[in-house]
Amino acid sequence: MFDHPSYDAHEGVHLFQDETSGLKTIIAIHSTARGPAAGGCRMWNYESGEAMLTDALRLSQGMSYKNAMADIPLGGGKAVIWGDSRRDKSPDLFRAFGRAVESLQGKYVTAEDVGVSVGDMEIVRAETAHVAGLSHGEAASGDPSPVTAHGVYLGILETAKRAFGTDSLHGRTVAVQGVGSVGGYVCDHLAAAGAHLVITDIDQAALEAVAKRTGAAVVAPNDIYDAEADIFSPCALGAVVNEKTLDRFRVKAIAGGANNQLVVPEMGEFLRRKGILYAPDYVINGGGIINVAAEISGTYSRDWVDGKLAKLVETLGAVLDEALSTNTPTNAVADRIARQRIADARAAR
Ligand code: NAD
Repeated sequence: MFDHPSYDAHEGVHLFQDETSGLKTIIAIHSTARGPAAGGCRMWNYESGEAMLTDALRLSQGMSYKNAMADIPLGGGKAVIWGDSRRDKSPDLFRAFGRAVESLQGKYVTAEDVGVSVGDMEIVRAETAHVAGLSHGEAASGDPSPVTAHGVYLGILETAKRAFGTDSLHGRTVAVQGVGSVGGYVCDHLAAAGAHLVITDIDQAALEAVAKRTGAAVVAPNDIYDAEADIFSPCALGAVVNEKTLDRFRVKAIAGGANNQLVVPEMGEFLRRKGILYAPDYVINGGGIINVAAEISGTYSRDWVDGKLAKLVETLGAVLDEALSTNTPTNAVADRIARQRIADARAAR
């Protein structure tokens, strides 16, 4: 473990198995320096235990960075469950997962992620109180994606200001990849601001619905990278900035909600050299976790969420300014600030 390439001095990596329900899960706690380690639970049919471990280690570190940049009193953690979410789910499995979370005595707070629904988390709640992203209850915050999308939209404006000298999107074209929960709302904000949209998705129904209400032009999934646009907004998958797509982008900025957009961190430097301003993913998409943090605090307040979101947009602006003035990749600047915030919290403890 200590030699694993993705191990970054994680505070704890916990492995649980429940033979009765078939649960196999890893809960990785990267840091609790800023507060309980918070991060969703992903259910995925991994190729191997090694791939599962790598995902848990990377995702939990990413949550530490995201929570630090959003300046919320939470550390970073993540749970991964090994299995096919369409086939292997059962109430027993999520009860067993809830008991695993409970055994960590509040060091880790779970929520939904890929393959896991609000309904699954309601089952988890029967075993532990350390769960968020619920739809019922006093502080329930529900679906975080409208808040994520609002933050992404504000982040696009902040990025446009630096890339084009103005944050007016009137007449600008934004290519949006993925018009699901986050991407759909992002398109609504962009259309209202007067932007032209080029959109794609593998889900025809989602694509048609968003095209109809925003007037967006539709392209095939693989054509979105070549779209004649000013801004590319990835709101579907990770690793979309890679050695194959890099030379296809015609845009001046990349700013979207998807997690882990760069296939490797070095892509940040390649984007910088191409003159493409990249809004680091875990900074621009922190709205959702801010919403979840409000729920974890026990008293959900929309004003608190809006205040934190405004602060996060300022932080994004500061990251972009420092990167531009020092000719440094934006993701490197964000990583440095996040690590510093975590180290400061650890020292203060
Ligand atoms: P979602 O599943 O609702 O939407 C994703 C959309 O992408 C779907 O419509 C899907 O059909 C589409 N898609 C999948 N593969 C595609 C492809 N190859 N080409 C084009 N479209 C494709 O998920 P979401 O909640 O909107 O999340 C989108 C991204 O934002 C994810 O990377 C997620 O991790 C990240 N994110 C989401 C939140 C949130 O609050 N939901 C918060 C932070 C980050």
